[in-house]
This record gives sequence, C-alpha cells and structure tokens, in this order.
Amino acid sequence: MIVTTVTVRVPAKVNLQLSVGPVRDDGYHDLVNVFHAVSLFDEVTASPADALSVTVEGPAGVPTGPDNLAARAATLLAEHIGRRPDVALHIRKDIPVAGGMAGGSADAAAALLACDVLWGARLDRETLLELGARLGSDVPFALLGGTAVGLGRGERLTPVEVMGEFHWVFGYADGGLSTPAVYAECDRLRAAGEQDSVWPRVSDDLMAALKTGDAEALGRALYNDLQPAALSLRPSLGEALAAGRDAGAVGFLVSGSGPTCAFLAASLDHSAELAAALNESGRFAAVRPAVGPVPGVTLL
Ligand code: ATP
Repeated sequence: MIVTTVTVRVPAKVNLQLSVGPVRDDGYHDLVNVFHAVSLFDEVTASPADALSVTVEGPAGVPTGPDNLAARAATLLAEHIGRRPDVALHIRKDIPVAGGMAGGSADAAAALLACDVLWGARLDRETLLELGARLGSDVPFALLGGTAVGLGRGERLTPVEVMGEFHWVFGYADGGLSTPAVYAECDRLRAAGEQDSVWPRVSDDLMAALKTGDAEALGRALYNDLQPAALSLRPSLGEALAAGRDAGAVGFLVSGSGPTCAFLAASLDHSAELAAALNESGRFAAVRPAVGPVPGVTLL
C-alpha cells in the first residue's frame, strides 16, 4: 500500500515537578522532571513532496525554515535511513509558542512518527526515542506521553503509574518566554543568593498523590524551580497565579519555563468553574481546560 498523507497528533506537557540542580561543566543543569502529557494538541501532517517544506496554521512566531523543530526531525530521520527529506510538513498549532509546554519538541516528535510511517521506515520505539533525544531533551517524552520521571537533562525517562485522570485549566499568556533566558535568570537569582540550589530528587509526596489520584495532594506537591525566574522576568505572572488561587484552584504553578500558568481543579465540574473564573479575571490571552495524563504521539 502506498501511503500518501500521514497525520499525527501530539500533546503538550506540564512539569508537575521541575527541580533544577547546579550548572554542570557542560553548561546544562541536572534536572528532576516529572512530565505529564495533557489534552492540548498540535497536529503534524506529512505528505510526499519534491523538497522539505513547512507550513504552520495557528499562532505567529513559529519558524517555517530549516530551524523548525519538525523540519529538523524530518531531516534527522531521513539521514538515519539514508534518503532525502522530501516531505511537506503542515503543523496545526494549538500548543502555545514559547509557552513552557514544549510545543516545538512535540512537533519534532510528531514529525518523527509521521515521516517514519510515510517513508515506511517502521523504526522501533527505542530508535525513535534515541533520535528524539538528539533533537531535544523534551522530545522523547512527547513520543511517550502519560506521566514520566525524566532524569539527566530530562531525557532518561521512567513512566509513572497514575490513578485516573486530573483536570487542569491552562492560562495562556500574550507572548512567550525564552527557555535559555529563564535558566539564565535562575542561575542569576542563585548566584545573588536569592534562591537556594539543592541537589534535586523526586518528591515522594508527588509520587504518592499520582498513585492514589488525589488532586488536593497533587496540588500541594506541584513544584517548579524555574518559577521564581519566570516571575522575575514577567512580574505579571504573580497576579495571574493569584487569580487561580483566588478562584479556588487546588494547585497552581508556572508550566516549565513559562509563561503559561497551570491550575489544577478538584473535578471536571470544578475545572469548568475555574476556567470561567479565570476567563473573567482578564489576566490571560486564552483559558483552556485539559485533562492529563494522555498518550504521546498518536497516528490519526
Ligand atoms: P519548552 O517548554 O520545551 O522549554 P517552549 O514550549 O517554551 O519550550 P516552544 O514553543 O517549544 O517553547 O518553542 C520555543 C522556540 O522554538 C520558539 O520561539 C520558536 O522560535 C522555535 N521553534 C522551532 N520549531 C518550532 C515549532 N515547531 N513550534 C514552536 N516553536 C518552534
């Protein structure tokens, strides 16, 4: 059978725990990351073409040249299997750009799977994960989905079992934050003695909350070492988080390097109330309910 077009759906992630260790000699930080895939999706469609191209539907700010992470994924996969990356990639973006939800990494993961199927390569999961890790430390998780602990730079993943599902509301900001700038601000705050730097470890309270499906306990255990840096660069995030606290969120934090804010609800009904209150607050460019965990890249 000749495959003509392949569409893949891929979720955004929120970090339930993001603990950042001291800077290593190679400039990276050792991280303890608990990734959680949520039902905000991008879609990547791969079709045969004479040359590599990228088109994007949705928010502005996404490059369409060779720098696009989906294009880099197609190029890497083509090199790996020894063919030309002659594919037209179309990205329908719903994940905020530079929002701390790993949208670019998600598109890279989606392009890997879409091209793998389009080109009939049928690489095994391990190989796709390994190619993904070469594209970026958040890419393997986008392939895997669910909930997982990531160690190292975030790419050494162990799936975590979760009871049931959790109900979230995400507050999108106007404009993004650069991930390297947020890490640099975290380093600066630590050097200035304004933030502690401790060797990171996985939170037992967080693991217990996930295992029992207890939203209140999960809300108390949410933790992000990059939050002070994101707040320092974007002080208005303080009021944005407070809006969720005042509206009764059982937990809240900045997602990854921000500026998207994640609010945890106690139930599906509560998430609808929370979303309405957050909309009403006028602090967000968009307010989006979502559930997690959801699977990683999925063929449509
Ligand atoms: P993370 O949570 O992994 O730190 P992020 O969610 O903050 O990342 P992304 O949306 O992944 O940020 O994108 C960061 C930058 O990467 C963008 O500003 C954009 O210039 C570039 N980029 C390259 N390819 C893509 C893509 N397919 N989608 C979005 N951004 C892309």
